[in-house]
Amino acid sequence: MPVDESILGREWTEAIPPQCPKCGYNLTGISSTRCPECGHRATLTELRRNAQEALYAARGLRSFRESTSMGFRVWGAGLFCLVLTKATGVGGIGVVLGFLSGLAATGLGLQTHRAKFVSPEALVALGIEVDDTKGRMLAFMGVGLMLGSIMLAW
Ligand SMILES: [Zn+2]
Repeated sequence: MPVDESILGREWTEAIPPQCPKCGYNLTGISSTRCPECGHRATLTELRRNAQEALYAARGLRSFRESTSMGFRVWGAGLFCLVLTKATGVGGIGVVLGFLSGLAATGLGLQTHRAKFVSPEALVALGIEVDDTKGRMLAFMGVGLMLGSIMLAW
């Protein structure tokens, strides 16, 4: 079914605006069945599915702030393990825990990168602000912790 102006104008019920699946152009209120930006002809089913997927991805981002703060706590615990290992001279489990904490912190820090796959319109429509500076920092710190563990184990 081709996209019809009346549907996009009045009967669009998704939480975020219809977007061209090909170029991301906001199709709210368009008067033809084609994307005015790239000429792609979309079906309503395609636009709905697109909007739902974008919404799903954007909702996932809501939790990324918690992921980041959890990552910092995990990182702190890992550092504590390494400091204990260094202080007591007893390796093994402390180094392993330090390494795993670093790995977990890196993973949690990289969560914010998912924001790159969500359309800016979806984020605006849902009122989500994305700042991935902390996530990136956490990922770097996690890698540092892993390297530190490896060096201690050596
Ligand atoms: Zn387009």
